[in-house]
Amino acid sequence: MTLAHELGHGVHQVLAAEQGPLLADTPLTLAETASVFGEQLTFRRLLDTEKDPQRRRMILASKVEDMLNTVVRQIAFCEFERRIHDARADGELTPDQIGDIWMAVQHESLGDVFNFDDDYRSFWCYIPHFIHTPFYVYAYAFGDCLVNALYAHYQKAEEGFQDRFFDMLKAGGTKRHKELLAPFGLDASDPAFWSMGLNVIEGFIDELDDAGG
Ligand SMILES: [Zn+2]
Repeated sequence: MTLAHELGHGVHQVLAAEQGPLLADTPLTLAETASVFGEQLTFRRLLDTEKDPQRRRMILASKVEDMLNTVVRQIAFCEFERRIHDARADGELTPDQIGDIWMAVQHESLGDVFNFDDDYRSFWCYIPHFIHTPFYVYAYAFGDCLVNALYAHYQKAEEGFQDRFFDMLKAGGTKRHKELLAPFGLDASDPAFWSMGLNVIEGFIDELDDAGG
C-alpha cells in the first residue's frame, strides 16, 4: 500500500508535468489525490482476495485506524488550535489552561470509550505543526475525505470516470477543488460531499464489525 501511495505521487507528477515547473505542484489539499486513491484501490484488492478471516480483520482494522488518524484525529488537532488561538487573544495561557483545552478536544473527538490519564495533558507539545505551521493539519483530513468521496463516486462505476480522473491529475496546481470536482458532479461546499467520504470509513468499520472481533 505504501508503494501504491508513492507510485500515485509519481503518476500525479508525471501527468501534471505539462503544466510546467511553476504550476505542476498542487496545493496541499490536493497533493494526495492520486496517492490515496491508489492506496484505496490496492487496499480493496488485497481485502477482496484475502480469504483468511483473521487476516481480513487485521487488514480492515489497520485501514480503519489509519483513516481515523488522518481524519478524526487531525480535525481534533485543528479544533485544538482554533480554541487555543481564540483563548490566547484574551491573554496569555498557562500550561494548565492549554492542557484543559487539549483534554476537552480529545474527549470530544474520541468519545467516552477512551480513558485519558493526567500524563496525556501535555501531549499537545509533541506535535510540531502547532508551533511551526499553524492551521495546516486540516489539509490531511480535507485531502483524505476528498479522495474518499471521489472513491465512493468511482464505486458507482460511472462511465468515463478514468478520463475525468486523469484530467483532474493533469491540471496539477492550475485549478482549485471547486473547478476540479465539477466534472464529477461533486461540490466540496455541500455537506453531503463530506458525508460521502466519511461513509467510506463507516463502511469499513461495518465490515470490520461483520468480520467479528
Ligand atoms: Zn502522500
